[in-house]
Amino acid sequence: MNTYTEKFNNSIQNTLFEKLPPQEQNFIREKAFLLHFTHQELKQIIDIARDLGMWNEKSLAEIFPEHTQKKVVFTRLKQAYEALRNTPNSYKNFTPKNIATEQKYTFKTQSKEGFGLGLCPVASEKTRCCNLLTLDAVESCGFDCSYCSIQSFYKQNTITFDSGFAQKLKNLNLDKNKTYHIGTGQSSDSLMWGNREGILDALFLFAKENPNVLLEFKTKSDNIKYFMENAVPSNILCTWSLNTPTIIENEEHLAASLEKRIHAARNLADKGVKVGFHFHPIVEYENYLDEYQEVYEKLLLKFNPQEVVLVSFGTLTFIKPVIKKLRDREFRSKITQMPFEDASGKSSYPHATKVEMFKHAYESFAPWHKSVFFYLCMEEHGMWKDAFGYQYWTNNDFEHAMLHAYCKKMGMDYLM
Ligand code: SF4
Repeated sequence: MNTYTEKFNNSIQNTLFEKLPPQEQNFIREKAFLLHFTHQELKQIIDIARDLGMWNEKSLAEIFPEHTQKKVVFTRLKQAYEALRNTPNSYKNFTPKNIATEQKYTFKTQSKEGFGLGLCPVASEKTRCCNLLTLDAVESCGFDCSYCSIQSFYKQNTITFDSGFAQKLKNLNLDKNKTYHIGTGQSSDSLMWGNREGILDALFLFAKENPNVLLEFKTKSDNIKYFMENAVPSNILCTWSLNTPTIIENEEHLAASLEKRIHAARNLADKGVKVGFHFHPIVEYENYLDEYQEVYEKLLLKFNPQEVVLVSFGTLTFIKPVIKKLRDREFRSKITQMPFEDASGKSSYPHATKVEMFKHAYESFAPWHKSVFFYLCMEEHGMWKDAFGYQYWTNNDFEHAMLHAYCKKMGMDYLM
């Protein structure tokens, strides 16, 4: 076996080469034997081919430069790839592929070590953070949002309930003289499972017995049956993650439609439950600002600011394991087809793009600025000034301002 054959076969180990369509494998093999790519170059070419397939863009062969010198070929290939990555996406000719159309899971109930209450898993001192505490009532989510990092933490399609959850919640010994902001909805969707395994019974009882806890249920579901059928403690807040229909249809698979989410929020607000809205991630694509504007205006029309506690904005930030997981999946998504810039160790949009989207979002809600709490989630300190015109100097200042506003709107005493 000649040396390059051996080198080639070793280089494609632990890459996604075998997952490429046969004609693409043959194309890469032919070019590799012609130009003798190194292991690193081959890995990058294979990832480029995977991305182009996932983005539903031209194939590797279509953008592959014709030249005899490897260095020139590799440089021009990367330029062509970056050009596709940096062009604002269009979902016009995009057809999702291998997208689950129905929810299929295995449910597991087992006694779990420890108790899933802790600081928000994505909080950091590098970003201006609200010190949210997150409570993992359920592990893994039944929706399949392409950008979500949960997919890299849990085995998808296995939904795990903690058989000791209710008891652990009951035994939780919190300081009665302090206000806690606790959110469920980080490790799974807060409402989609309803009261399965008695999780809502336990959480409602917890809220009742701990009036100093502001308990936030975050969701992309319209499953509000339990909330409509039971008295909802006044320290419970329900918040919906919203997006444009374009992103919901193409990237938030199995989750409720925009209309269903807004309708569910409207029903709970009619029942006197305080609501809130998260636009996270705001995604840049062709004509995105106008499409988001339509959603913002819908909320301004359908809700009275006295019913709404918060509106938050955030955008895509990727950690390497999620990008690896996405490349490994056999589906189509345009979610990583974006210009990447470092954002506190993660990959996100360039600063200017984020200022554009956040400024537009905040200004679109001008009528609510004095009566609803607005915040940026997981953004660098300076982004606040650039997008909102003001900023908090510490995470504690941010948390303080948030809880003060939330408690006032919820009719709760703010205990510091
Ligand atoms: S700002 Fe966002 S990331 Fe930071 S702690 Fe709050 S919820 Fe978590």
